[in-house]
Amino acid sequence: MLLSLYSLSFSFLHHFLFSMENKYLNILSFCFSNTICGLLIVSWLARNIIHTNGLTTTLAWRRKTRKKKNQDDENKMSLLDLPDLTLDCILEKLSPSELCAMTFVCSELRDKCVSDHLWKKHMENKWGRLMGDAAIKEWKTHVATLMACLKNSNPSSYRSNTQQWRSRLAANLKPFSWLKTNHGCHNRGSSSSSPIDSVMYWYSNLESGKFWFPAQVYNRENGHVGFMMSCYDAKVRYDNKTNTFQARYSAHGRRAAEENVTWQRLRPALVETESRDLHVSDCLQGLRPGDHFEIQWRRTKEFPYGWWFGVVGHLQHCGGEENCRCISDENVVMEFRQFRPESPWKTTVLNRKDHRETGNEVSGFYGGVKKLGTEEEVSTWKRLWPSQVLD
Ligand SMILES: [Zn+2]
Repeated sequence: MLLSLYSLSFSFLHHFLFSMENKYLNILSFCFSNTICGLLIVSWLARNIIHTNGLTTTLAWRRKTRKKKNQDDENKMSLLDLPDLTLDCILEKLSPSELCAMTFVCSELRDKCVSDHLWKKHMENKWGRLMGDAAIKEWKTHVATLMACLKNSNPSSYRSNTQQWRSRLAANLKPFSWLKTNHGCHNRGSSSSSPIDSVMYWYSNLESGKFWFPAQVYNRENGHVGFMMSCYDAKVRYDNKTNTFQARYSAHGRRAAEENVTWQRLRPALVETESRDLHVSDCLQGLRPGDHFEIQWRRTKEFPYGWWFGVVGHLQHCGGEENCRCISDENVVMEFRQFRPESPWKTTVLNRKDHRETGNEVSGFYGGVKKLGTEEEVSTWKRLWPSQVLD
């Protein structure tokens, strides 16, 4: 059996000997004089040949693949090879979530995708209508507070370079991860610092509902009968799950809140006057019957004002539309047609020249007046009109 195996091995080996280099031949001729040594040599050669052939095949495949890949790479054009203007045009088409996703491609795209000029458009489209002067002022104050907080809590990590802050934000931002993460100052370490002065960060705080901002709510408390056709100051925040808002009202004696406030029931404050201050009326002289207005009104002097919608009416002694002289009278009739004629809130009369807060504990107190200037303002109120007349 040993001889038979040797014979086969020799035959196998002989087949390859012709292809061997000369330097092996002398060694082999010596080894074949010994059976055991010959078997070992056959085993070694077989392994070596198989391995070499396999390796050769593998290397050849790899070279082929690499060559093809290099050719493919040469044929491919990177997004970053595009001219800046063209790339900007593409990025401008992306949604907020898509822009965020792009920040993960590479650092260069990341820096481009957090740019203010890309986010200003999204901010304007979604939040522009509600970001009035008061909301903007509140956000700037919030940013200044956070910046000071960061600077004081970790001066070594603080950088004035805005671009660095933006990169830090992008590095820690997953698409809409702001819906889950906490950007509170107390939780911010140097590794998770964010560019709090960027439009992107502002947008993210609005989307996540972390930013409570000042706004006014029409028909507060879900159209409570005591507030129909009024608009009150509130702090609101967005709920992205329901696409509605939460509102908190400041009121005397109790702190009212409301959920599921729709976009249509919100507006920014139209004047700078705070809800506890009397608005200076500068439109009374020109008011004529049929004009639409809003007037400050509060139940008692402890409550803040709300803005109430009304229409200028005719004086009691007026002869009507054709012979109307109401415009030249020192008094002007303010009507609130959502109430029944016998209601104490149906009508009030103001002095055009010397109007200050007027009223009493029964009918409430009337403050400053603002004439509505646009058809849109009037139509917004008319959409909120109650389904039945109020007492
Ligand atoms: Zn009249």
